[in-house]
Amino acid sequence: MADRIAVIGAGQMGNGIAHVFAQSGFDVVIVDVSDAALAKGRDTIAKNLDRQIKKGTLSAEDREAILGRVTLATSTEAIAGAALVIEAATENRDLKFRIFADLDARADAGAILATNTSSISITEIAARTTRPELVIGMHFMNPVPVMQLVEIIRGLATSDVTTTRVVEWSRTVGKTPVEVNDFPGFVANRILMPMINEAVYCLMEGVGTPEAIDTVMKLGMNHPMGPLALADLIGLDTCLSILEVLQDGMGDSKYRPCPLLRKYVAAGWLGRKSGRGFFSY
Ligand code: NAD
Repeated sequence: MADRIAVIGAGQMGNGIAHVFAQSGFDVVIVDVSDAALAKGRDTIAKNLDRQIKKGTLSAEDREAILGRVTLATSTEAIAGAALVIEAATENRDLKFRIFADLDARADAGAILATNTSSISITEIAARTTRPELVIGMHFMNPVPVMQLVEIIRGLATSDVTTTRVVEWSRTVGKTPVEVNDFPGFVANRILMPMINEAVYCLMEGVGTPEAIDTVMKLGMNHPMGPLALADLIGLDTCLSILEVLQDGMGDSKYRPCPLLRKYVAAGWLGRKSGRGFFSY
């Protein structure tokens, strides 16, 4: 029988992670503080499964079986019995520290506690628990059902056994894990976010329109999406949080978030999830 897993946070990443694990036969409980977010998360999984049926890669019976393996909860009491807990709540240090202290108290002894954080130190998160050897970064890419990569981030105390198990689980759900070490932004966002930030500076300084900036990067660099459209997909609040972690963690002003990015976040223009960012949706 497949392991039972828990996903904390039903947002765009949480529901995608739940989707791929349920599709691979795991029982999945999703925990969120918001009933509305849980309902929306489940709807998104259902819609994405419908898309797979239309493409001919999934049967209607499988869709029902997959949805039947996903349960919803508003309390972390529901994580009992999970061999793996993957946290995908809002990108905020203090919030994640609080969540991990709670997960440590509630999860089974021996359960692995993973975080999908884009940038926050795995070592610091692990230090909030009594089981730092069982804490690890499992950084899925957006949209999770489509993207191949899982960046596996070892904290200072993460054990080899924990890493091996998480690498195996990643392969079981059809992903390609890549192991890296715990430094601000890891590899993915250490490289991606300065590029996105520079694109926002280009927009602020009037170097080009959003369309021009994105088209240059798509056609000139062969990127499938332009940096501004990608920022809208990630969420501008998440991009800002990651840049703050990079600036703080590296102590280098080259990571300072562009004032225009701060302004958009302050206005509630968060990208696709709020209907407006650098582009309108
Ligand atoms: P999101 O805003 O779509 O969803 C966050 C969810 O967390 C919301 O549903 C919110 O209600 C829930 N939440 C907040 N506090 C909670 C708590 N105490 N317990 C349970 N749930 C809680 O955010 P997202 O884009 O899904 O990002 C989630 C995590 O994944 C972040 O750490 C982010 O950095 C990371 N991530 C995001 C992307 C991306 O492209 N958006 C890519 C990789 C990793």
